[in-house]
Amino acid sequence: MEIRTVGVVGAGQMGNGIAHVFSLAGYDVILADISEDSLKKALATIDRNIERQVSRGKVTAEDKAAALARIRTTLTLSDVGATDLIIEAATEKETVKQAIFQDLLPHLLPHTILTSNTSSISITRLASRTDRPEKFMGFHFMNPVPVMQLVELIRGIATDQDTWESMHAVVRQLGKTASSSEDFPAFIVNRILMPMINEAVYTLYEGVGSVKSIDESLKLGANHPMGPLELADFIGLDTCLSIMNVLHEGLADTKYRPCPLLTKYVEAGWLGRKTQRGFYDYRGEVPVPTR
Ligand code: NAD
Repeated sequence: MEIRTVGVVGAGQMGNGIAHVFSLAGYDVILADISEDSLKKALATIDRNIERQVSRGKVTAEDKAAALARIRTTLTLSDVGATDLIIEAATEKETVKQAIFQDLLPHLLPHTILTSNTSSISITRLASRTDRPEKFMGFHFMNPVPVMQLVELIRGIATDQDTWESMHAVVRQLGKTASSSEDFPAFIVNRILMPMINEAVYTLYEGVGSVKSIDESLKLGANHPMGPLELADFIGLDTCLSIMNVLHEGLADTKYRPCPLLTKYVEAGWLGRKTQRGFYDYRGEVPVPTR
C-alpha cells in the first residue's frame, strides 16, 4: 500500500524528529499533541534542525521550505484519523497510548495503518484493543531521529504481511535501515543495550570503577563512541530504569534486576542531562562525574 499522509501523535523529543524526517522525505504530516507549547517547541526544533542540515549542505533551502510547508499541527486528535499511517509517539504510559488509539478508532480510514514508537510496551496488547490488530505494528525510531540510521520494526502476533512490507518500504523511503524484531520485552536494541548500562551501574555501585574509569574503559577498550554512564544520562535514567523493569517483569529473570544505585539516582530526581544531573553534573562548563 502506498503511504502519502502520516499522522504523528505526540510532539515531544521523538515526535518532532519523526515529523522532521517524514516531511523531508516528501510525506504530508499532521502532528498532534495535547499541549500547544509542545507543538510550538516542536516546530521551532524542526526548523532549527533542518537549518543545521542546510548549513552542512545536506539539504537545500528549497527542500527545507517545502518540508516545513508539509507539516500541519493540531490540538484535535481526530484530525489525524484520516491519514494512511499513524505513528503514536506520546508519553510512555500504556493508559495514555490506549486512550489515544480508542479516541482515534472512529476517525480512521479503512486502510489506515496504526503504529507505536513505544520503547517497551507490548505491541500485541496495544493492537488487541483496536479494530485492526493485523494493521498494527511497532515502529521504533532511535533518538535523535534525524541522525540515527536504524528503525526497529516490531511485528505483533497479528501483524499481517502487507502491513509489514508497507512499513519496510516507508523506512527505505526515509533513507533509513530497518531491523526486524518480534514482539518481546524491549525488542532488540534495548534488550541488549539496557542490561549493559545496568551492568555499568552495578560496576560503579560495587566500587569496581569510578564513573570516569568505567566510561573511559568502554570508549577506549571496546571502541564505543560514548561511555555507558554518559549514554545513560543522555537517554534519561528514568527511561533506563523503566526499561529494566519491563525486562525484569516481562522475562521473569533475575539477571534483569535494576541496580539499586540506578533506582537511587531516579529517586533523587537526578535523571541525566534533562535535569542537568545524573552520573555527571552538567551545570558547569564541563560535565563533572557525581561519583
Ligand atoms: P516526550 O515526553 O518528549 O514527549 C511526549 C509528548 O506526548 C509530549 O509532548 C506530550 O504533551 C504528548 N502527549 C501526552 N499525552 C498525549 C495525548 N493524549 N495525545 C497527544 N499527545 C500527548 O517523550 P519522548 O521521549 O518523545 O517519547 C515518546 C515515545 O517515544 C515514548 O513511547 C518513548 O518510549 C518512545 N521512545 C523514546 C526514545 C527516547 O530516547 N526518548 C527513543 C525511542 C522511543
